[in-house]
Amino acid sequence: MSESKKLNLNRVEMPKQEPELRRHNFEEVAFGYSDEQAVEEAGRCLQCKKPRCMEGCPVGLDIPSFIEAVRDGDMREAVRITKSKNSLPGICGRVCPQEVQCEERCVLAKKGAPIAIGRIERYIADWELAQKGRNRPEIQPPTGKRVAVVGSGPAGLTCAAELARMGHQVTIFEALHDAGGVLIYGIPEFRLPKGIVRSEVEYIKSLGVDLELDSVIGRLVKLNELFERGFDAIFLGIGAGAPRFLNIPGENLSGVYSANEYLTRVNLMKAYRFPEYDTPISQGRKVAVVGGGNVAMDSARCACRLGAKEVHVVYRRSEAEMPARLEEVENAKEEGVIFDFLTNPTRFLGDDRGRVVAMEVIEMELGKPDASGRRRPVEKAGSEHLVDVDTAIIAVGTVPNPLIPSSTPGLDTTKWGTLVADENGRTTLEAVWAGGDITTGGATVISAMGAGKLAAADMDQWLRQGGAWKS
Ligand SMILES: Cc1cc2nc3c(=O)[nH]c(=O)nc-3n(C[C@H](O)[C@H](O)[C@H](O)COP(=O)(O)OP(=O)(O)OC[C@H]3O[C@@H](n4cnc5c(N)ncnc54)[C@H](O)[C@@H]3O)c2cc1C
Ligand code: SF4
Repeated sequence: MSESKKLNLNRVEMPKQEPELRRHNFEEVAFGYSDEQAVEEAGRCLQCKKPRCMEGCPVGLDIPSFIEAVRDGDMREAVRITKSKNSLPGICGRVCPQEVQCEERCVLAKKGAPIAIGRIERYIADWELAQKGRNRPEIQPPTGKRVAVVGSGPAGLTCAAELARMGHQVTIFEALHDAGGVLIYGIPEFRLPKGIVRSEVEYIKSLGVDLELDSVIGRLVKLNELFERGFDAIFLGIGAGAPRFLNIPGENLSGVYSANEYLTRVNLMKAYRFPEYDTPISQGRKVAVVGGGNVAMDSARCACRLGAKEVHVVYRRSEAEMPARLEEVENAKEEGVIFDFLTNPTRFLGDDRGRVVAMEVIEMELGKPDASGRRRPVEKAGSEHLVDVDTAIIAVGTVPNPLIPSSTPGLDTTKWGTLVADENGRTTLEAVWAGGDITTGGATVISAMGAGKLAAADMDQWLRQGGAWKS
């Protein structure tokens, strides 16, 4: 087949739960393709000789080949092709921003109907999950080298999987009691079911990777102690999970949460199933979520599901500048979330018990573009006014946790607190690599995976050439 094949511009839609129903439950919003829908969508692919879609994939997936295998009903081959480059397809198929990556570059994007690459990838992963027993990929003979991976988010998991397949003995150290990083504690169940994350973590363990949970590196065990325990190299995939605040009066009132705490309570600690699980959370009557990214959308949609009467997203720029995925903004709107654009909080007010009861906001207008290229929001003098709120969630970004850099002499950081690393993830310390949000600041799942993969390739070469830590 070639690009001259007759174009079919009817992109197959993916069925979803109705908004009225889903705003009251935590079950997955999108149902995924049926067999027929997946084959129909795969059949639209032109099998381009120079597949532009692949240029947009940070892990180098052979997109036309896995689509062809789905079209031909050869699902084992589709799984093999996908897993040869991506150890987490069920996750990527659900949360990757394909619309600005592979799908944006698909030749059919110009006609407004790119192939639904993410949905097909999800279909492949879900098909494999439904089978009994998974195929184990080829694993190279043991090298006798040991690698410690700190952090079990997408960067750490990918790096660990790649190194294990290259024959190295890998142990992941994770601070929390569950593996997956933001995938498990941040992104809600209705967007990414935790069963999917757990099954992909199990797959990585099946490659021979050991996982030590509840292990905060940098506190009781320092990096040099990992080397002393016999590890030859370390990869730091510790994310950038510390919350950033607005630094305005009243932010410490009860009922004002960082998105990080709010989402961790809801997702990791299962507060939405309180009292079956013993983590409580403010249900909220009138909730304000401050921010315009995916984290803000997730927080607002969780608040709806917890039973809030009114949920507002308060964003200081206009809709056009919102960094959240379009699909998630649309889902939030369908679920009844109200958007207050060009609005910024200036302080929170509390009652005599220290509980938030109101938020003062100021109206904004857009000025000249700032360093990010987006138009800078400017306050409209005298436009301050009060709005009632009983819960506020601050979702204005995150910063790296300083624990490891501050306890590791020689590990340099940038002025933003991220780790200094070269294009292969080499840090300023011999035998220590890093990748994902800890080097870029908050980014995406697939960019973290790409960084884990690049670092693994470089570490493999270094280990095979006899690289060793020097005390
Ligand atoms: C709510 C939310 C929604 C998002 N939605 C999307 C989305 O839809 N699509 C998308 O592509 N991206 C999304 N992102 C961004 C994406 O999740 C991150 O870019 C990605 O998870 C970064 O991966 P990582 O492996 O670098 O770090 P993380 O996922 O943050 O994982 C780091 C891990 O390291 C552990 N750790 C930290 N310090 C230590 C230590 N000292 N010792 C041991 N372990 C440690 C942490 O506990 C954590 O498990 C979202 C982020 C959030 C917060
Ligand atoms: S997904 Fe799009 S760009 Fe990629 S091979 Fe198919 S039609 Fe071509």
